[in-house]
Amino acid sequence: MSIIKKRKRIALVAHDNKKDDLLEWADFNKGSLTRHRLFATGTTGRLLEEALDIPVTRFNSGPLGGDQQIGAQIAEGKIDMLIFFWDPLAPMPHDPDIRALLRLCVVWNIPVASNRTTADFIFSSPLMDEDYPRQLEDYSTHITRMDDLLDEVEEEKDSPES
Ligand code: PGA
Repeated sequence: MSIIKKRKRIALVAHDNKKDDLLEWADFNKGSLTRHRLFATGTTGRLLEEALDIPVTRFNSGPLGGDQQIGAQIAEGKIDMLIFFWDPLAPMPHDPDIRALLRLCVVWNIPVASNRTTADFIFSSPLMDEDYPRQLEDYSTHITRMDDLLDEVEEEKDSPES
């Protein structure tokens, strides 16, 4: 279990055809957004900062690794939520990165909104203004799955055959 704190670390990303949508949504929710810490891919972040005059920690632009940077932050427990308005009608050069990012949200059980309706439902939840105990799956079996092999390697190191 890990606590998603009242003041949440929220990552925002929008593909080019969805940037207007995200800006409009963010403008409407500016009051709530400013109660949290915001992160974004490069261009999305710049637009949010300039249009809404709110501080945003910016990563690289998505196609240049920004989605992967956000994914890494999620894996390290440093981002609590993803608002990602992705474009379902356009193939992207960084489709594998997008898939990887969405996968990590499931691995680490964080809330993800892929469209405005979901973002509205999440933002109107009372949980936005409370600590939330996030359940984490027990990955210990995965982490320890090679322990037998590691033990064998250790034993061989300790008693090398002549
Ligand atoms: P951008 O990246 O915010 O730099 O445009 C978003 C994306 O395409 O993943």
